Amino acid sequence: MAWDFSTEPEFEEKLEWMRGFVRDEIVPLETLDLDAAAFARATRPLKDEVKAQGLWAAHLPPELGGGGFGQVKLGLMHEILGQCGYAPAIFGNNAPDSGNAELLALGANDEQKKKWLEPLLAGQVRSAFSMTEPGAGADPTLLATRAVRDGDHYVINGHKWFTSNGSVADFLIVMAVTDPDAPARKRATMFVVPAGTPGVDVLRDIETMGDIGGHSASKHGGRPGGHSEITYTDVRVPAANRIGAEGDGFLLAQQRLGPGRIHHCMRWLGQSKRAFDMLCERAKSRYTHGSVLADKQMIQDWIATSAAEMTAARLMTLQAAWKMDTEGASAARQEIALIKFYGAGVLHDVVDRALQIHGALGYSTDLPLEAMYRFARAARIYDGPDEVHRQSVARRILRGYEAPAGGVPTEHVPTRREAARARFADLLEAVTSND
Ligand SMILES: Cc1cc2nc3c(=O)[nH]c(=O)nc-3n(C[C@H](O)[C@H](O)[C@H](O)COP(=O)(O)OP(=O)(O)OC[C@H]3O[C@@H](n4cnc5c(N)ncnc54)[C@H](O)[C@@H]3O)c2cc1C
Repeated sequence: MAWDFSTEPEFEEKLEWMRGFVRDEIVPLETLDLDAAAFARATRPLKDEVKAQGLWAAHLPPELGGGGFGQVKLGLMHEILGQCGYAPAIFGNNAPDSGNAELLALGANDEQKKKWLEPLLAGQVRSAFSMTEPGAGADPTLLATRAVRDGDHYVINGHKWFTSNGSVADFLIVMAVTDPDAPARKRATMFVVPAGTPGVDVLRDIETMGDIGGHSASKHGGRPGGHSEITYTDVRVPAANRIGAEGDGFLLAQQRLGPGRIHHCMRWLGQSKRAFDMLCERAKSRYTHGSVLADKQMIQDWIATSAAEMTAARLMTLQAAWKMDTEGASAARQEIALIKFYGAGVLHDVVDRALQIHGALGYSTDLPLEAMYRFARAARIYDGPDEVHRQSVARRILRGYEAPAGGVPTEHVPTRREAARARFADLLEAVTSND
């Protein structure tokens, strides 16, 4: 089987343009404390440049205004965007809007696309994805939010939290149980709930590690809003706001999360590379205990280990992207689960080493590393915690194995020796008689 992650020279030119643009035009913005209005003003001309390059909302197919690049190319683009949390918004593919746009592109009908997808793609509105509940996170089959049909409407009641951008979104995509008696993965359905619909109460933006001490990790995570706790009390939405058929919720969620995880992993690699560059630069400059840190074997080990882990994560992610491009999202499920936990771990560990080598300076807000560290910590939880992805990988792998007969390991040497003696008895006898 051939593997091919190569791209055309014209695409490489686009990537080269992106590298320069992110480095020279976007990264410097991080150092300014821009409020939402100033950020919008400062980034408008940058967004125009991205559109002129044909790189706006590249995650979508061409008929919806995207580039139709496929996952390998998108992955390479996200590796560049991941270096700065502001970059995805300036390229029209900021989470959670990009995932919601992909979801609407997949599951919405023409009228719904016109109403919600088009303005989302044009950057005129913001969206949120409201699935996790205080009592149901890693196991979404425990969702308790209900949507009950009432004539031409559904009535939604429930309690969600960690709805990113929930307090600034113009519409929320809410996952609710429509048939509690259906099989676990056919119970839930997604609805578009416009912000301001009576009964939608944003209780608070939950303060997290991402907001500590006024120095936000969001510049590295790229999230303008908070993670909102929201109650839905007798919220009436027209049946026309249902995405797909009743019971399609899990299927749509899976399709939304697959490509999103590849983009996350490639963005984490961009972020890891930035931390890695800081690690190496510090190793060359800091003199202590008789030499620069670069001469200490322990630091050399960190550098070599980080380089090996980042290379492994990159190849694993590109392979998952390639499989998705060539065989489709469901064929790549195991590869995607692998990179989700492995990539999050690599990001965490590389940032941790880069922070450590800077000592107190690394821990301070004079460097971006402390915020990158807080951003990295969340990656091991959102989009499914590490343990769930590890479990899913192990289960899939174990499907290919059977318990050996009688519980004796297949490789048990005495048993194999006995079988080999029986199989080669003639030969062994001949050898013995020749002796
Ligand atoms: C920064 C951030 C942004 C988020 N944005 C959104 C959003 O926009 N929309 C949304 O709907 N949700 C969002 N979430 C929620 C996120 O998807 C959930 O936090 C995640 O699915 C885990 O659910 P939980 O927090 O309820 O953890 P729980 O389900 O309580 O799990 C807690 C821990 O239990 C362990 N665990 C769970 N299952 C297993 C298992 N099978 N085997 C072994 N150990 C296990 C893991 O260590 C896990 O971390 C966000 C979360 C964060 C941190």
